[in-house]
Amino acid sequence: GKGAAMVTAVAYRLAEHSREITQTLSEFLLSTEQLLEVKKRMSIEIQNGLSKSTHDSATHGDFLALDLGGTNFRVLLVKIRSGKRRTVEMHNKIYAIPLEVMQGTGEELFDHIVQCISDFLDYMGMKNTRLPLGFTFSFPCRQTSLDAGILVTWTKGFKATDCEGENVVGLLRDAIKRREEFELDVVAIVNDTVGTMMTCAYEEPTCEIGLIAGTGSNACYMEEMRNIEMIDGDEGRMCVNMEWGAFGDNGCLDDMRTEYDRAVDDFSLNQGKQRYEKMCSGMYLGEIVRKILIDMTKRGFLFRGQISETLKTRGIFETKFLSQIESDRLALLQVRSILQHLGLDSSCDDSIIVKRVCGAVSHRAAQLCGAGMAAVVDKIRENRGLDHLDITVGVDGTLYKLHPHFSGVMHQTVNELAPKCNVNFLLSEDGSGKGAALITAVGCRIRQELSN
Ligand code: BGC
Ligand code: MG
Repeated sequence: GKGAAMVTAVAYRLAEHSREITQTLSEFLLSTEQLLEVKKRMSIEIQNGLSKSTHDSATHGDFLALDLGGTNFRVLLVKIRSGKRRTVEMHNKIYAIPLEVMQGTGEELFDHIVQCISDFLDYMGMKNTRLPLGFTFSFPCRQTSLDAGILVTWTKGFKATDCEGENVVGLLRDAIKRREEFELDVVAIVNDTVGTMMTCAYEEPTCEIGLIAGTGSNACYMEEMRNIEMIDGDEGRMCVNMEWGAFGDNGCLDDMRTEYDRAVDDFSLNQGKQRYEKMCSGMYLGEIVRKILIDMTKRGFLFRGQISETLKTRGIFETKFLSQIESDRLALLQVRSILQHLGLDSSCDDSIIVKRVCGAVSHRAAQLCGAGMAAVVDKIRENRGLDHLDITVGVDGTLYKLHPHFSGVMHQTVNELAPKCNVNFLLSEDGSGKGAALITAVGCRIRQELSN
C-alpha cells in the first residue's frame, strides 16, 4: 500500500545519498599512481629549490628557548649536560597568544612575547641571569646567519604587521630593549623541523631528517653541500629546511585539489600559499571536513538539511576533535556526543557520515605527507649512491602524536613508495624547544672560539 511505497521511496533516497556521499569522498582517494606522481613532483621541487641553512653539534649549560608557531607558544629553560651522560632537562610554561595579538602589529606581538619571557623568568627566579636564548620560530625564513632570519611570509593564522621582510631576531632584541627589564643574548633562530631533527640526532646518529606534522607541515634533511648551489663549498652536509608546506604553490598539485581544498584556501589568511600544508596539516584538516559537511548538508544528506551556526564557524574541528571522532575505540554514541558538544545536533546516520568524512580527509593527508617523505628519503639514498638506505626521521606535531591513524598510514605510504629505504620514525618529545637550546649551545661555542 501507500506505506510500503513511502518506505521504498525513503530507502531509495537513502541509497542515492549514500552513493553521492561515496562519490564525493572518492575525490579524496588517491591511487598509488597519483601518490607516486606526488612523490615525483616533490623530487622535482627539491631539485628546484635547494637553498637556506643552519648548524649542528653540542656543549653544556643553561639556555632559554622560545617556541613560536606550533599549537602552543612556550618559554623554556633547558639544561644541557654533555660528556659521558648526555642529558637534557627542561622546564617550560605555555602562554596564550590572543588572536588580536597574532593579527595585530609586530610590536604588539613581540612586546607580548617579551612579557611572557619576563613572567617565566620571575617564575623560575632567574631575572638577573643573562642567559643565551634560542628562538624556535616556525615560519619560513631566509636565514642569513645563526642569529638572523628574515621572515618570508607568515603562515598558520599569524598576520602581525611589519614583520615580513624583517629580521625577527632584531624584532625580538628591540622588544627586549623596549622593556628595559632584563638582558638576554639571542644566539640562534631555528625552525622547528631543525630543532626536532637535532634533538633526535643527539640520541640517534642515523637521524638526518626532521618532520613536523602538526598545526603546520614541514620537513628538513641533511643535504650534500655539493648539491646546494646557493652556498659555496663542496665538503660535507648541511641541513636544509625544505618549507615543503609551500609545495604546490606553483600549481603543480592543482589536479589533485578538490573544491573543498580550494574553498579552504580562499577563506584563509594566506590565499594561494602553503597549498600542500593546507591538504596535510592539523590547522586545515578540520576546515576541509567542515566545508564537506556544509556541502553535504546543503545537498540534504546531513543534519536534516539544516546548516547550524556552529557549522558556519571557522576552526571548530581542531585536531583533537578529529582524533577523537576517528578513534576506533569510540562507539558511535560517543561520536554523537562529541558532535553534540561542538553544538552539532546529529542523528546516528549523521555521525556515521561525519566519521567517514573525517577518515577520508585525514587518510589523504597522511598519504600525501608520506609521498613527500618518500621523495626525501630516496633523494638522500640517491645522493649517497646506495641501493639501500637505513635512516631515522625525528618527528613531532599534534597530528602525528594525537591522531589515531595518521602516523600508521603515513609510515605505510613511505614504505610503499620508497621500498629501497628502511625508514625509522622517532618521536621527538619536545624537539622544537630542546633543539633550539642544543643549537644555541653550539652557537655559544662558536662565538667563544671566534673570540679566542
Ligand atoms: C612553516 C614552517 C614550519 C611548519 C611546521 C609551516 O607553516 O612555514 O616553517 O616548520 O609550519 O610548524
Ligand atoms: Mg612544536
